[in-house]
Amino acid sequence: MDQTVFKTSIVALWGLWVCANISVYSMENNNRPLGKKGIIGKVLAALATSNVMHHYNKFCAKTSSLLGIPASEEMQLLGKEAQTAVGIPAERHVPIQYISGLDASAKALDNTILIGEEFMSDQTKYGVKRCNMFHEAVHIKYHDDEFNGALFLSSLLGTSLVTKMFVNPQGKLKLLYILALLVGHYLGRALQGKFESYRERRADIEGHYATQCYQCVTEKIEDIQDTYALANDIIARLDHNIPLSEEQSYGLAYAKKWIESKKRYLSIEENQMIADELRQCNRVCAFHEQSS
Ligand SMILES: [Zn+2]
Ligand SMILES: [Zn+2]
Repeated sequence: MDQTVFKTSIVALWGLWVCANISVYSMENNNRPLGKKGIIGKVLAALATSNVMHHYNKFCAKTSSLLGIPASEEMQLLGKEAQTAVGIPAERHVPIQYISGLDASAKALDNTILIGEEFMSDQTKYGVKRCNMFHEAVHIKYHDDEFNGALFLSSLLGTSLVTKMFVNPQGKLKLLYILALLVGHYLGRALQGKFESYRERRADIEGHYATQCYQCVTEKIEDIQDTYALANDIIARLDHNIPLSEEQSYGLAYAKKWIESKKRYLSIEENQMIADELRQCNRVCAFHEQSS
């Protein structure tokens, strides 16, 4: 490989890696208002929405088939509205697909936003569906599904390239590459774990603001509160009961997993701050405007 290309790729890979780390760190340790991105967050966003990242995403998406079946016209429109509102150019929009048995309300992949039963149910408030769709649209905007993999890959390649650059192992010493890959693997996994929290918070923040409706965000908050109450109730009733039926232990495990996973997202208080801000500016969506 040409020396300049080689050096540039090392710098680029490690730049990406360092940016992601600092960004996660600064997101966790700042007093900045929720809606304001720091400089590192902006760099990371620019990388994730770049043409290079988009082409990488497209390349990966080609190898995965489209899951589920096309969702209703109403959901396609909501998907379009969400993707436009979070700032995705029309040619990068993905279709909305329905799949049964999804273990989340919705899920953004590299080629679609999957929606599950919760989205089809009349019991689910419109604001919950709207906030969830906008949250997933932010994942699509930043190619989050594939960006996570890109981080892991850059960590793996980065450690190997740095080894070659500084040690350049020959003969038996080439075994050092195995060590470098192991270190890269470990660092990559650690970074992915941190990045997963970062991207969920980013999707909540940007998605909720983009709804431009305090009632939608309020309905989403009520839904989280209800689910917390339900999960805590299950845990209180079942946690010290022995023996449990198969159904009960499944319910208990699910409730615990849900509470654990919620730590990655905005807290109720943080969500409330966004709702209050939108309320102060009197922001209401067309649906809630009509229904009031
Ligand atoms: Zn998410
Ligand atoms: Zn609304």
